Amino acid sequence: MRPRDVNKEGILEALEAMGPPSKENIRQLSRRTGVPESEIYGVASFYHLIEPVDRRVCTSLTCRINGAAERMAELQAQGLRVDEVSCLGQCDRPVAVLDEHHAPLGGSPPARVTPDDPELPMNLGGIDSADYAALERFRALGVEAFLEELEASGLQGRGGAGFPAHIKWRSVRSQPETERYVVCNADEAEPGTFKDRELMIRRPHLLMEGLAIAALAVEAQDIYVYVRGAFGACRASLEAAVVQAGDHLRGLRYHFVSGHGAYICGEETALLESLEGSRGMPRIKPPYPTVEGFRGKPTLVNNVETLACVPSILLRGGAWFAAQGRTGAGSKLYCISGHIEKPGVYELPLGVTLDELVAVSGGYVGMPQAFSPGGASSGFLPMDRREVPLDFKALAAEGSMLGSAGVVVLNHTVNMAEVAASQTDFFEAESCGQCAPCRIGTRVLGRALGGYLRSGDPGTLAAVEDVAWEMEEGSICGLGIAAPLPLTSAIKHFPSAFEKRSPS
Ligand code: SF4
Repeated sequence: MRPRDVNKEGILEALEAMGPPSKENIRQLSRRTGVPESEIYGVASFYHLIEPVDRRVCTSLTCRINGAAERMAELQAQGLRVDEVSCLGQCDRPVAVLDEHHAPLGGSPPARVTPDDPELPMNLGGIDSADYAALERFRALGVEAFLEELEASGLQGRGGAGFPAHIKWRSVRSQPETERYVVCNADEAEPGTFKDRELMIRRPHLLMEGLAIAALAVEAQDIYVYVRGAFGACRASLEAAVVQAGDHLRGLRYHFVSGHGAYICGEETALLESLEGSRGMPRIKPPYPTVEGFRGKPTLVNNVETLACVPSILLRGGAWFAAQGRTGAGSKLYCISGHIEKPGVYELPLGVTLDELVAVSGGYVGMPQAFSPGGASSGFLPMDRREVPLDFKALAAEGSMLGSAGVVVLNHTVNMAEVAASQTDFFEAESCGQCAPCRIGTRVLGRALGGYLRSGDPGTLAAVEDVAWEMEEGSICGLGIAAPLPLTSAIKHFPSAFEKRSPS
């Protein structure tokens, strides 16, 4: 097991509170904590939100097609220090801009969600009850009976990987080490995805209850909630819920930690590194976090939505939850944005089609050309795949993925080579740089595509397949594996966008 320096935990919060990561601030912090200056500098330079600026403008796909470049120029013309950043989790409200305190400029208008329906497992439009009835049921039922219900529910992790929840929970519970942790991954950052944001704002008690059940099931007392740095309102909502819950959460300690702006920290082991005060670089697995996670101890890491499904499983049974899906178990929070009438978060049976999702979100805007079914990591599919169930298996069979179900629709007005460049830029900016295939591969793909967009010569793309193969085979984590997909899927499904043409 690697040695861990407990003094490093909290170093990022301290650094942000001190202002710019200047030499003097880093030196002072080093003296105060005993953490070497070089390490503090290394951490400070890793995260986007550490450097103070006046405005941060999202330049990811949905914001880009809605005029991010023009918005940036407008703010710069006002004499403000403006930074270009990857997705800000506001794809339903493009163009997203953060102010100097990391809060959305202009506030957060209410998001569209599925209207109140008590039959839905998460029911974002309903009242967030603080009765903690599921937690009481758990205490009455006992752990083993609950885990059987969890297995019967078929719940798969909703963060993107789709790993069966009951296996993870049982794995942590079975470890001989008794110091254990539960970590909630609330660092939602996949472009196109903003479902966890709405869950934390609208149903904080549901999440706190799911976390309490998780902690009791794996016999942990400490729960860490790692909330995306740009989601201050979500963190405040969760903290208020814990206070309001009072005695319901007896025996448990909730700790809230804000992220500092690094997409890769959505990967569970990168998140753990960040919690420990390090650069958010994914660990090589095994060991998995269930065996050696936070502080080297067995740790259950689950996504917000996964945990929010748990209370309904307890109250209505695993079989009931499973039956809420169509081609997979349970309901799913689908985010939808881009060229559609009513971007928002819609809870639907797992396995609906794109057309069904668009029907509840007001319809297409213009003539649809392509869609990205699960965020940037899922690449692009053409409209002749609109009948493919939006689930884990069917999308994988198409060479894509459900991921975090951040669906983005693109109409005939976009150039597929340009939108592929948007996603390729994103992965290049967010690669943690730890392994060569990803660090170099994202750069090579970006240059190849940039070369094509300037010259119109498809020859610049000749090495794309080989580079993609190297990245898929040699990357440590999912980012490097997924990074080529936007470009390779665009070339495969939209070849006319990559034909020879006159230089621009
Ligand atoms: Fe970092 Fe990319 Fe390697 Fe993942 S694949 S560890 S993001 S360099």
